[in-house]
Amino acid sequence: MFAPSKRAAQSALEDFLPKAGTDYAADRNSDYGPNRHHNVSTLSPWIRTRMLTEWAIIQSVLEEHSEKSAAKFIDEVCWRTYWKGWLQLRPAVWEEYLSARAILLEEYSGHLGYEKAIAGETGIDCFDAWATELAETGYLHNHARMWAASIWIHTLKLPWELGADWFLRHLLDGDAASNTLSWRWVAGLHTLGKSYLATTGNIQKYTSGRFSVNRRLATAPIPVPESTPPSIRPLSKLVQPGTEGRIGLLLTEDDLSASDWLPQRFSVDAVSGFLPSTAYKELGIDEKVIDFRRACLAERSGADLFESIDPFIDWCTSRKLSTVLMAEPPVGLWTTTLPVIKTRLFEEGIELLPQRHWWDEIFYPKATHGFFRFKQAIPSALKIIKEPAMTETHV
Ligand SMILES: Cc1cc2nc3c(=O)[nH]c(=O)nc-3n(C[C@H](O)[C@H](O)[C@H](O)COP(=O)(O)OP(=O)(O)OC[C@H]3O[C@@H](n4cnc5c(N)ncnc54)[C@H](O)[C@@H]3O)c2cc1C
Repeated sequence: MFAPSKRAAQSALEDFLPKAGTDYAADRNSDYGPNRHHNVSTLSPWIRTRMLTEWAIIQSVLEEHSEKSAAKFIDEVCWRTYWKGWLQLRPAVWEEYLSARAILLEEYSGHLGYEKAIAGETGIDCFDAWATELAETGYLHNHARMWAASIWIHTLKLPWELGADWFLRHLLDGDAASNTLSWRWVAGLHTLGKSYLATTGNIQKYTSGRFSVNRRLATAPIPVPESTPPSIRPLSKLVQPGTEGRIGLLLTEDDLSASDWLPQRFSVDAVSGFLPSTAYKELGIDEKVIDFRRACLAERSGADLFESIDPFIDWCTSRKLSTVLMAEPPVGLWTTTLPVIKTRLFEEGIELLPQRHWWDEIFYPKATHGFFRFKQAIPSALKIIKEPAMTETHV
């Protein structure tokens, strides 16, 4: 279903474009089951690596639909940016999730309810079907993710962190921000006290009668512990490279589009890719997810693709680089690897300078409150997309 290539991504986008307007707005909530997700885009695995970018997708959509007809789809694409900006401003939320996850994995080792849930053997027909679909395809419809997370947290009474861990291991689009923060939202932690509760009627209505939902689902959410909202850390100030010396480009699986936009801004002498596979393995990410990301990255970086630090440093020194540029990695799997690479390069007299695309530059600072305040930035982004000359001044 998902091939790790630009060609496959582009073809999936072209198939979806005619449906991205009012059809999507009217029918996007229905989950027709495995391999029948024709009412949504299923572009998320490619968007995750920015093999397809938010701005290019929206530009294509606006060539076929008016802004008004495509408003719902544009909003959904921007939800991803909202979550990414929100976590970028609050990196402690990811650290806290990782600590809780480590403790809970020990505590729940051998726990029958947990083992049955991740194996899709709870006896709840819909939940077990979604667990199977997730394991087999690496994809779930948005509504199925919401229902599954709600049943996990409120009916099965399992910790949300272990549910987020389960999804992150299998989703081809698995993303630290969208996944962790959506699970927090279902648990009632994002907007304090506002949890998401799946109901039998809603599941039956939007799954075209595929499930009887053969167990009584929770009718009240689990209580949310008192807590103060996580504090905001300003975005890092980015440094531009000087005019002297050779520049290398480090591509990551978080933003493959940097192979387009960074060379437009700076003169790049050499390109390589790096997949932090140690971090992936530490989080137990499924091999098929790692293979997908690796293959996407390899298509852009060519042969100079690294997964451990020493050979990458050797590559930088052999190319006589004085600067390495990269798209600023979002909070997530790169968080532990980035400082190590930076220090090792510094020891070789090479500067590592992350840069931010105009899309992230416009949106991230706006993720201070809820989505409705955040989305006020959408018109400025659409203006840049519609006027390519303005794009050039922002790349
Ligand atoms: C518990 C839970 C966990 C999730 N985990 C992830 C995750 O790890 N990675 C991920 O990309 N999305 C995640 N989502 C969001 C959403 O479910 C998926 O992005 C969407 O289902 C992908 O399918 P699609 O490409 O067909 O979406 P479409 O409906 O076609 O939307 C187009 C694109 O917009 C973005 N998008 C749409 N809805 C959302 C949303 N609610 N939040 C963030 N982005 C959105 C995605 O990039 C998506 O590809 C999660 C949602 C929930 C409730």
